[in-house]
Amino acid sequence: MKIAVAGSGLAGSYIHRLLKMRGEHNVDLYDVKHKIACGIHPCGYGVDEHFDRFIIRAGLDPLAYRLHNPPYLLAQLEGAVARTTVFMIDKPRLIRDLLQGADVRLNPIDVEGYDLVVDATGQARAYAPPLAQDLKARVIQWRVRVSVPTTTSFLPTRGLPGYMWVMPLNQDGTDVHVGAGCELGNRTPARELVRPAFSSLNITSVTCACGAFIRLSGPDFSNIVCGKIWAVGEAAGLVGPASGAGNVFALQSALELVENLFDPAGYVAALRRRFAPLIPEAKAVRKVLAGGLPNLSELYHIHRGWQRAGVVVAWRDLPKLAIAMRRAYATAA
Ligand SMILES: Cc1cc2nc3c(=O)[nH]c(=O)nc-3n(C[C@H](O)[C@H](O)[C@H](O)COP(=O)(O)OP(=O)(O)OC[C@H]3O[C@@H](n4cnc5c(N)ncnc54)[C@H](O)[C@@H]3O)c2cc1C
Repeated sequence: MKIAVAGSGLAGSYIHRLLKMRGEHNVDLYDVKHKIACGIHPCGYGVDEHFDRFIIRAGLDPLAYRLHNPPYLLAQLEGAVARTTVFMIDKPRLIRDLLQGADVRLNPIDVEGYDLVVDATGQARAYAPPLAQDLKARVIQWRVRVSVPTTTSFLPTRGLPGYMWVMPLNQDGTDVHVGAGCELGNRTPARELVRPAFSSLNITSVTCACGAFIRLSGPDFSNIVCGKIWAVGEAAGLVGPASGAGNVFALQSALELVENLFDPAGYVAALRRRFAPLIPEAKAVRKVLAGGLPNLSELYHIHRGWQRAGVVVAWRDLPKLAIAMRRAYATAA
């Protein structure tokens, strides 16, 4: 079987490694040229407690990629306190180790030349057909050094629906990711969007910055396997719409693909079993992005979505949080 893997991000590089470990040597890897300093695109280093088992499965040591210990404690969330298992990893290093010097081709794939083309191109979904109900958000992120150590926190964006985050990248909390995601197509300048998060930090220097898009539509299970083209990871819509978390889902879906390599129906069924709850979560997020107020059932799906991404808000804090978010979205940016 001749296999092309399009995209050497998390899903693509993980699939490549698992296939090599299984003795599948007829596998070619493709990507596009990046101009970005860290060498990967998109950014985003947060994972939850499920990360380790996927890395062990690939014969690597998960501890080697931890930038700090999982907090298992409290993230600030607009006055409410959330329990979280989210921690940051050295994602560029992980992708480098998964690839282990593999040759990554930078030309477009000649689909006819392969029996299977894995679309692991993230939000680009460059080979699988476009999604009828696609939904993407705009995301911007800075890496900064701060003089006063910080902890993980999440805040709603001002003036439009979305959220900001502050996530430490080292144990002492002085190297930090700070960013924001919101609906696509609005004209708010990036700096303005993230200003409230920035103002909570004592920034001494900016290391880098990047912008990207993130798919929030959830999966369309009828469009994951299209003949010989199989979508995986974010290309398959496997990002938490309420959280924007896609790293662990990329690994999880990549493993399912490898385990069902000769069984397209089995692959889709496995993804459906694991990821069907992203569909009502996406529906609720669409409503909030359109300026609507989630009803109780939608709030439940958003809450479950945060939980799937490793962020747990007590039910009793939910009404307070919903009101605070609503107020922030109505406040001028
Ligand atoms: C700013 C930002 C912050 C984020 N933060 C987090 C976070 O903290 N935690 C979390 O869990 N998730 C986060 N996410 C989401 C997460 O990064 C993605 O969901 C995850 O990387 C998806 O993995 P993937 O392998 O499916 O796709 P990607 O990681 O997007 O990899 C896709 C690869 O395909 C390549 N490619 C694109 N077009 C083509 C083409 N035409 N041909 C060949 N290759 C192509 C790209 O260059 C890339 O290497 C964040 C996203 C962004 C944008």
